[in-house]
Formats: sequence, structure tokens, C-alpha cells
Amino acid sequence: NHESIEQTIERLGAVIPDYPKPGIVFRDLTPVFADGPALRRVVDALIAPFEGQFDFVAGVEARGFLLAAAAAYASGKGVITVRKPGKLPREVFSESYSMEYGDSTLELHRDDMPVGSRVLILDDVLATGGTLGAAARLIRKAGAEVAGFGVVLELGDLGGRDRLGDTPVTALIAY
Ligand code: AMP
Repeated sequence: NHESIEQTIERLGAVIPDYPKPGIVFRDLTPVFADGPALRRVVDALIAPFEGQFDFVAGVEARGFLLAAAAAYASGKGVITVRKPGKLPREVFSESYSMEYGDSTLELHRDDMPVGSRVLILDDVLATGGTLGAAARLIRKAGAEVAGFGVVLELGDLGGRDRLGDTPVTALIAY
């Protein structure tokens, strides 16, 4: 199989114009996740640049959970859930943010990991960077360190990478 990972994502990913709002071009990666070999390649490629540099993998609800659980399992680490408001039962940190098609809040349990832990944060798509920026603020509020960000697909013209500061960002394909 000589297909590059970019070609695999291109072949399987769906592009939906005007979803969930007019003017947004939605990149649906669920067909990539539904393909066994593609999922394995994507997850391996997201963790490879950060090998030995993280203690936990955090996923952003909901599509980030899929990647984070797989990456955590593959690397023998634990998974951390960064969730939409009201879902976590214990004391949380909260961060509000705006993203490509709306405003929202994310939450993290206050005691999910020891202070000083190194956390790799994963999500499916990087657009404006609002979501990953909020996830990073939560991890730092909890006294942990962001080892890096990994996304399958980056929409480069929205400037998301610039909003994430000096922390390394891996994207498997960029538009
Ligand atoms: P942002 O916070 O603007 O970087 O948006 C990233 C978050 O919103 C991720 O959790 C994505 O799942 C979702 N998202 C934003 N824009 C898109 C898009 N064009 N296609 C698919 N998902 C998107």
C-alpha cells in the first residue's frame, strides 16, 4: 500500500458545505475513523512526534475522545476527558471560548492527573484554535503541562496554530 496518510485522509474524509451553518465547510472524518487500517495509521502518526514526551492523552468531546482513547491505549498511558459543560460529576475547571461556528465552554475535573503531568491534547480538526486553546488553559489550570497538540486535519487559513503559542502542533493534513 503506497498511499500516503494525506491521501488516505483525502480519500476517506467527507466534505459537507454549509454544515452546521451556511458558509462553514465541514470536514467529516468519521469515515476515516470507521476504516480500521486508516484509524490505526492516524493514531500512530499523531503519537509518533511526541513519543516519550507525555504522561496522559486528553481528548476534546466528542470526536477527540475517539482519538485520545486509541492513542492512550496504543502508548500505554491514561486518557483524560475534556468535556462540554455539565457532564463531569465532580469539581471542574471551566473555560469559555469561541470556535469556527459558535461559542462554548469546556470543563476538566480538577484532580484528573498529578501536578506536573505532561499531557498530549488531541482533536479531529483545528480551525480557529479556540477549542484547543481552551483545552490547554484547562490542563494548565490543573497544574499540568501541555506536551503538544495533535489533530488529523488543520484548516490553515483560520490561524489556529498561531493561537496555540509555542506548544508544538502536529497536523496530518492541512488545507
Ligand atoms: P476551532 O475551535 O475553531 O479550532 O474548531 C475546532 C473544533 O470545532 C473541533 O472540535 C472540530 O471538531 C470542530 N470544527 C470546527 N470547524 C470545523 C470544520 N470546518 N469541520 C469539522 N469540524 C470543525
